Amino acid sequence: MPIATVNPANGETLKTYEAMGEEEIERRLQLAEATFRTYRTTSFAERGRLLDRAAELLDDIQQDIARVMTTEMGKPVKQARAEAAKCAKAMRWYAEHAESLLADEEPAEYDVKDSGASRALVRYRPLGPVLAVMPWNFPLWQVVRFAAPALMAGNVGLLKHASNVPQTALFLEDLFHQAGFPEGCFQTLLVGSGAIDDILRDERVKAATLTGSEPAGRAVASTAGNMVKKTVLELGGSDPYIVMPSADIDRAAEIAVTARVQNNGQSCIAAKRFIVHTDVYDRFAERFVEGMKALKVGDPLEEDTEVGPLSSEQGRADLEELVDDARRSGASVLCGGQRPDGPGWYYPPTVIADVTREMRIHREETFGPVATLYRADGLDEAVLIANDSPFGLSSNVWTRDEAEVDRFVRDLEAGGVYVNGMTASHPAFPFGGVKRSGYGRELSGHGIREFCNITTVWHG
Ligand code: NAP
Repeated sequence: MPIATVNPANGETLKTYEAMGEEEIERRLQLAEATFRTYRTTSFAERGRLLDRAAELLDDIQQDIARVMTTEMGKPVKQARAEAAKCAKAMRWYAEHAESLLADEEPAEYDVKDSGASRALVRYRPLGPVLAVMPWNFPLWQVVRFAAPALMAGNVGLLKHASNVPQTALFLEDLFHQAGFPEGCFQTLLVGSGAIDDILRDERVKAATLTGSEPAGRAVASTAGNMVKKTVLELGGSDPYIVMPSADIDRAAEIAVTARVQNNGQSCIAAKRFIVHTDVYDRFAERFVEGMKALKVGDPLEEDTEVGPLSSEQGRADLEELVDDARRSGASVLCGGQRPDGPGWYYPPTVIADVTREMRIHREETFGPVATLYRADGLDEAVLIANDSPFGLSSNVWTRDEAEVDRFVRDLEAGGVYVNGMTASHPAFPFGGVKRSGYGRELSGHGIREFCNITTVWHG
């Protein structure tokens, strides 16, 4: 894949980049290692000051970076601005909370005595240079979600961003540098995915985090496993959105539209499978389809656009194949399902009903504005359908019945259960999945501790 900015709204190549060669990669690895040696000794206060400054700079330049993101990957510019604002918020959150999240822990007095110690504690120390392999769909957020806690913990970052967002990748390196972080604290490696194996095998790289598809996750985790290096994997999702009779059905249908088409439908935590109790199925389906049809699809740089193009021609072709396969196998297409003529990689908001287990769309992730609708006879069947997926990222349930909530929280195989709302990440809550959605957690105290050396200090 060439490293280039190609505008998804018209297919025009705007800028191409030469991949960094071996010498430049070596220079950057050396710099990362050397910087870590001193950066690890800085105080939380100093790191927090720099991260707050990065947040300030990002706020100042929000409009410009939003347009860059939109031009590189096609998200509506309003959503791009919201993404930049969310990044600044996460930076400030970690700047404020990292010290307490990583404070020394004291085991119970009884256990300290029992171990024969006069004193004992647990200290969180940084690991070193961490490689971050990141996707294009939230090109700022995915990176900041890693970088803010990593830098606050005293680690340094090496970013391998997706090949279609090079300008955003270079912007991030520049942002941390402008904020005053020492050179080498956060570097962008402009390389293709073929270069990752060697970089990950390098002894100077201590761990890796990957957000992306399952094949990419498997490749990085196998190499890291082979080198005995820690990894965090945030992979795909096919989140269920369950609607029960006691819910506010109109509200559930309205939020369902946003939950499905946010980021042009290319979000790992987008609701993708809509599982509706048979008693309220018709009403929900009608409102949901109405909402999907009413969306304004168009130029992502226009302020009132709600759905822009998919990020790549291949992405659209993959999505189209899933819809065509379902249609051929007997599914009903309630709206959309036909690519428009004209330039750009657009695909209309689409709702598919009468989905069966044999269809590819039932098991695979739909990375675009395509929803599948299922009818469930009751809670047990809803849970069964929801869990009948290789993924387990998050889940959404709509009900006013507390006993039902308890059952869903007990039984849904996912890293999150969002009740009467849609999944959205927040710096204070852990984020991540189970099954083939990956392992490990980002954000909150859990996220910052993933790349720490959890050290026992024992005094005789
Ligand atoms: P992708 O093709 O896996 O790319 C993600 C990153 O991995 C890119 O930087 C890519 O580089 C790199 N990569 C690809 N193959 C690799 C390999 N064999 N070895 C090392 N690196 C490799 O995924 P995508 O299409 O950009 O993103 C969509 C996927 O990400 C979806 O499945 C989505 O659900 C998932 N995602 C998950 C989360 C989460 O938090 N769980 C969040 C967002 C997205 P190149 O661009 O150079 O190929």
